[in-house]
Amino acid sequence: MEHADEFRKYAHKLVDWIADYFENIEKYPVKSNIEPGDVFRQIPASAPEEPESTDELLADFEKIILPGITHWQSPNFYAYFPANSSYPSVLGEMLTAALGAQCMKWETSPAATELEEAVMNWLRKMTGLPEYFTGVIQDSASTATLCAILTAREKFTSFHVNHDGFDRQPVMRVYCSTEAHSSVEKAVKIAGIGKTNLVKIPVDDAYRLIPEKLEEAIINDIQSGYRPLCTVAALGTTSSTAVDPLEEIGLICSKYNIWLHVDAAFAGSALILPECRWIITGIERVDSFVFNPHKWLFTNFDCSAYFVKDTEALINTFKLVPEYLKSQLHEHVNDFSNWGIQLGRRFRALKLWFVIRAFGLNGMQKRLREHILFAGNVKKWIDQDQNFEILAPVNFNLVCFRFHPEAIHDEEDLNRLNENLLKELNRTGKLYVSHTKLAGKYTLRMVIAQTYVKEQHVNDAWKIICEKSEEVYQNFK
Ligand SMILES: *Cc1c(COP(=O)(O)O)cnc(C)c1O
Repeated sequence: MEHADEFRKYAHKLVDWIADYFENIEKYPVKSNIEPGDVFRQIPASAPEEPESTDELLADFEKIILPGITHWQSPNFYAYFPANSSYPSVLGEMLTAALGAQCMKWETSPAATELEEAVMNWLRKMTGLPEYFTGVIQDSASTATLCAILTAREKFTSFHVNHDGFDRQPVMRVYCSTEAHSSVEKAVKIAGIGKTNLVKIPVDDAYRLIPEKLEEAIINDIQSGYRPLCTVAALGTTSSTAVDPLEEIGLICSKYNIWLHVDAAFAGSALILPECRWIITGIERVDSFVFNPHKWLFTNFDCSAYFVKDTEALINTFKLVPEYLKSQLHEHVNDFSNWGIQLGRRFRALKLWFVIRAFGLNGMQKRLREHILFAGNVKKWIDQDQNFEILAPVNFNLVCFRFHPEAIHDEEDLNRLNENLLKELNRTGKLYVSHTKLAGKYTLRMVIAQTYVKEQHVNDAWKIICEKSEEVYQNFK
């Protein structure tokens, strides 16, 4: 494809394809059920020597790729946390792809930097985060958490590790709860701190970090000659959206001069609802904060909002300006490549800008409130049904539950029964739920957060869950 004419023809066709896809998305099985190797086997072992036609490309996309796609944008997708998108987000991404701008420095596309500054200010205000936070878009929460730990490491060693390595440094310790996301452990490994120096603090019966246990661990570590570096508090854990008690954790971190990073990857979006701001009581002691508009704010992957208090420490951790990147302006503008790990950066602010403007704050709030309400309905149905039980507090829009018929008492049996149920539910293709383990119990997770999910979808999903559980139970006995 070399000419604009041809591009125009196929681009129009594709836009129609995309619109049809969204309109008909419920006709596809939500979870792809192909076998390992099914796609790989259909791709030639070597790249083509000669150009192939666009018709062939698109035909193969439908024939080979589409069956291997799990439809994350289906309103019947209730698994994991969503990676939700929306019409305005797709439009923004189209333009980002068309511009193909590499936005590493202000100069390489001033609008990208300045729009990022502006929309991050919007987000900060929309979520009620403090004014002294400065925002930057990272590719993912995992990267943002790594940035936080690296910045803490550098700030507390006066940039010694960046300069000389770990030579003559005390062993550093990082704290999080046993329910924290695996990205914390990954970050500690990459940052050279070592995963044995990640201290996992026990949780209470609502899966929240126990502050007294945190302080105990810190005191023990100090007595043993370690350097407590950073605590990662979770506002909305991945298993059950448990909310760590930020205020108590903040007091402990201030007392021992420890960096406090907040991982609110999923639930942070709920801060656009004033009634959910109780989760950030104590935010004034937080050093850095991440949440993902690419999870629950209608902006397609990737787009992680990272906020920091000490911008200077962040920039001093990452800044490198080789001769070929020097410019006369760099003292006066933000070069966001110095605010994180990547040099090259996509223009992610554009889709976020489109999304926020197209929905408006009210439009976003309305959808989030609906999601929370629908999850409340599911909880209510479970509470009223003797064959099901809720396994964790429903803080937002994630319902953790299991099928528990009265006749079955053995925990192993219950685990197996629910594992079967999950498999059968997802095999229907009519919905997709995922699982976790809470206190050893096999737990079904149903997250209601899809951009275009309606009450009817949730009603239908619950009906399927009831039917399938009966079926699975009959076959289990
Ligand atoms: C999803 C999730 C992450 C990881 O997010 P990425 O953006 O995919 O790196 C981290 N922490 C929590 C609590 C999450 O739910």
